[in-house]
Amino acid sequence: MAEHESLEFGKADFVLMDNVSLEEFMANLKLRFEKGRIYTYIGEVVVSVNPYRAMNIYGRDTIEQYKGRELYERPPHLFAIADAAYKAMKRRNKDTCIVISGESGAGKTEASKYIMQYIAAITNPGQRAEVERVKNMLLKSNCVLEAFGNAKTNRNDNSSRFGKYMDINFDFKGDPIGGHINNYLLEKSRVIFQQEGERSFHSFYQVCVSVYVSVADAMKVIGFTADELQTVYKVLATILHLGNLTFGVDGDTTLIENSKVVAVIGDLLATKEENVEKALLYRTVATGRDVIDKQHTAQEASYGRDALAKAMYERMFCWIVGRINDVIEVKDYDAKVHGKNTVIGVLDIYGFEIFQNNSFEQFCINYCNEKLQQLFIQLVLRQEQEEYQREGIPWKHIDFFNNQIIVDLVELQHKGIFSVLDEACMNVGKVTDEVFLQGLNSKLANHVHYTSRKLSPTDKSLEFDRDFRIRHYAGNVVYSVVGFIDKNKDTLFQDFKRLLYNSSNPVLKVMWPEGKLRITEVTKRPLTAATLFKNSMIALVENLACKEPYYVRCIKPNDVKSPLLFEHERCRHQVEYLGLLENVRVRRAGFANRQEYPRFLQRYKMISEFTWPNHDLPSEKEAVKKLVQGCGFEHDVAYGKTKVFIRTPRTLFCLEEQRTEMV
Ligand code: ADP
Ligand code: MG
Repeated sequence: MAEHESLEFGKADFVLMDNVSLEEFMANLKLRFEKGRIYTYIGEVVVSVNPYRAMNIYGRDTIEQYKGRELYERPPHLFAIADAAYKAMKRRNKDTCIVISGESGAGKTEASKYIMQYIAAITNPGQRAEVERVKNMLLKSNCVLEAFGNAKTNRNDNSSRFGKYMDINFDFKGDPIGGHINNYLLEKSRVIFQQEGERSFHSFYQVCVSVYVSVADAMKVIGFTADELQTVYKVLATILHLGNLTFGVDGDTTLIENSKVVAVIGDLLATKEENVEKALLYRTVATGRDVIDKQHTAQEASYGRDALAKAMYERMFCWIVGRINDVIEVKDYDAKVHGKNTVIGVLDIYGFEIFQNNSFEQFCINYCNEKLQQLFIQLVLRQEQEEYQREGIPWKHIDFFNNQIIVDLVELQHKGIFSVLDEACMNVGKVTDEVFLQGLNSKLANHVHYTSRKLSPTDKSLEFDRDFRIRHYAGNVVYSVVGFIDKNKDTLFQDFKRLLYNSSNPVLKVMWPEGKLRITEVTKRPLTAATLFKNSMIALVENLACKEPYYVRCIKPNDVKSPLLFEHERCRHQVEYLGLLENVRVRRAGFANRQEYPRFLQRYKMISEFTWPNHDLPSEKEAVKKLVQGCGFEHDVAYGKTKVFIRTPRTLFCLEEQRTEMV
């Protein structure tokens, strides 16, 4: 129970609800939002509602209030979670992670930044120059990543179009000495197409205006050289020029209609104009021992142009992340000098997406959320279970929906949707989205979480033949198979790779190492987009699973970025699919509250004659037992080795009430 909040602001912890019902949950969430209390706990999970206005709760003074305090001593706050993760890391030598989830615009990225700022503010009291340097780099890297990975969308003016996981490494003093960033699935299609009202990545606009100065400054601070910066500008410019290229036909010949653009691109890419032209119009094909140039149709050429623009941007983005990592990574040498090295990871990744039209990208993103939900189930349960074991208290099994079945539906070898997709892509005969859908229908006809128009012809939500539907843990999503095959194959003609590798700009060349291979040497198919994504998700989850997790669950209160509007239906849906009510139930089915004996005694000793002002019992545990017996709560309490466990919130209320009467 947060000490400094009265009930007029609602309950600071959903675990303290009188009845666990959606109505009561929503009422509390709304009340707190309206009172400007945007954070509420579920045990150690922070539920956050985007305030859409500047809050005066992140300043130096607030940081001081949370520093080193226990979670329940202060009103709920991100800082408390950051501090808990930091304390666990420092005191108990544990790697920890903070997983931030929620839909686009819910406040994940802002939360991740406040968490990093908090950690930066409370560390390095000795002001060691090297640590200050690292902290500065870590904070600066956010600004660079946002310039290249964020864009204005209809949901969020500064929407992250990639997933980000950042490790911060600490030395034995608990000061940051380095970090590492992993990026996931950049939405590169934004480079060539944006929905009405949306924009491409910020970087394209920042090239033209002075805003970019700050990003360029940040890049310089991080250590990008002048040549590297120039190359970044050139890649951006190339992509813009590619967007202006059009193709036509003259008899049997495909041609570029505005050939002046080709000269400009050749210049920007430090390669000959005719090489650019050839790569745009032909592909080299190996037939047996012969190598021939095959002319593209105008349509193929357009496809190639778009693929090139997307691939150049994605490569550059990954290269930027790689360069930042070069600079912030803890080197072997440092690790030896600093000795013990622990980690706090911060995950800011796209939330569940249900759009009007859902395609391959939404499918991947929603799969990612299934994986994280599975992790949440395992870790939250495992954590509870482990604590009970540690404390020697019998564990009571709790039943709730386990989404492993949906994870399997997507990722299982041979049977899962990704496998079926990869198979369809490798089909020797026809490779079409329809063939893929047929594959799904025949393999998954009896799966309870899968259906399609063919399997459920009367189902109204499946409007078109191309539709299939997955019952996700967060709800039903209808996907259109159109584009799955193309997006999964993600073909970039080899000729482009060779073109860029052979550029006389060394910075550009490094981004395209596989261009070194001659056509006859290219034997392996590149991994498909689905396989790459699946592998990166499996690695991510493995990484998170060995850390002690802390959770921030973000909720978006309305679609109009208003600080005043709490759209009930909108919020209810998020509460449901984030599984928050189940979270409360799990937390309460065990014990709603647990406290170490000394702390419990400190707080409640005034309500019992046996313990006030001092007790004469052999241990603090015995003193707590005596106190609890005296109050008549014996039936509702279990005694662990170091902590007292209280089953129902009511007991905690009574204790709190009696305490208030006394003080
Ligand atoms: P997400 O990363 O979940 O898509 P963001 O973190 O980018 O969402 O938040 C979207 C916008 O909402 C921000 O640009 C900001 O205007 C507002 N916002 C989010 N969190 C806060 C906060 N704690 N205080 C004030 N405004 C916020
Ligand atoms: Mg974001």
